[in-house]
Amino acid sequence: MAKVWYNTCVELIDLYRNSDIHKKILLDKHADMINHAYILSSADSILLDAYAGFFAQDICCECVGSPCMTCLPCQKILHGNMVDLSIYPKTEKSLVVEDISNIVVDSYIRPMDSKYKIYILKNFDLCTVQGQNKLLKTLEEPPQNVVFILTCSNEDMVLMTIRSRAKVLHEHALSKKCLSDYLQTHGIVNAETISSISDGNLTTAMALSHNRNVSGIVDDVIGVLMGLNSSRDILKYSSKILSYKKDIGFFLETMVSVLRDIAIVNSAEINFISHKKEIEELSQIYSARMIDKIVKNITSMFNKMDFNCNVTGLIDQMLLDILEVKFLCKK
Ligand SMILES: [Zn+2]
Repeated sequence: MAKVWYNTCVELIDLYRNSDIHKKILLDKHADMINHAYILSSADSILLDAYAGFFAQDICCECVGSPCMTCLPCQKILHGNMVDLSIYPKTEKSLVVEDISNIVVDSYIRPMDSKYKIYILKNFDLCTVQGQNKLLKTLEEPPQNVVFILTCSNEDMVLMTIRSRAKVLHEHALSKKCLSDYLQTHGIVNAETISSISDGNLTTAMALSHNRNVSGIVDDVIGVLMGLNSSRDILKYSSKILSYKKDIGFFLETMVSVLRDIAIVNSAEINFISHKKEIEELSQIYSARMIDKIVKNITSMFNKMDFNCNVTGLIDQMLLDILEVKFLCKK
């Protein structure tokens, strides 16, 4: 795990240094009030895994400007050689009761070469109620110098009794610019498109970066919005959208993003800067009212798609709705 963490997560250190989680642990550290348990909560699993390690470094780092990545504790954590840091689950996706039993026993043994003994318990929200309850007893009367770092994507799945005994730190999604800059720095093609539809979630963005359909998707969306002018065009564009197969949802999300850009064409906030010219042209066709109606249609269709309805029928209907809006609300 250590090597994996080193290779994949060390690049995220700059994002961590700007994170809320980092700022909060520094406050506790400077006040010499490290809590015995923290819950790090985020919908972004890649960030969360990385941040949990940096968080442990923050607790142990001996330098100003922690995590410095160069002092002995930072280096040990980075390379997986810190004997007083344990990361669970070792193999399974979620913690099992047996893991918690081992952790509870181990936590009463004093740290060997650090001030703190740290346990990172990943995906704690996936742990059973029985397992969570087992840890609860230890959190009620924590051994000295032990810090539990629990990570979760759904805080509601963590027992209230655990939450009330831990300090809960939420990490917000990255800003679009921050995510886009990160993707660009790391040579991800289509960084602008990916960051625009990932809602600031690096995990989603990385999944999309492996998707060949990302390339050209904005052009296809613009093609539909521009070229759909009569019912004769429906078959052509319907086939185009259906060719995205399992990525149809992704196509529709991009469409909503492009429509929002059209609505705010003169703002500096638009997502698809490299398509500004086409978006300006579309803003001559689509008014804010039209966009509002189309986005509502797409959203309601999206909900129906979850129930495995006839997708072809839904796409045809959506295109008809766009045509109707275009015709009725002509600018
Ligand atoms: Zn350090």
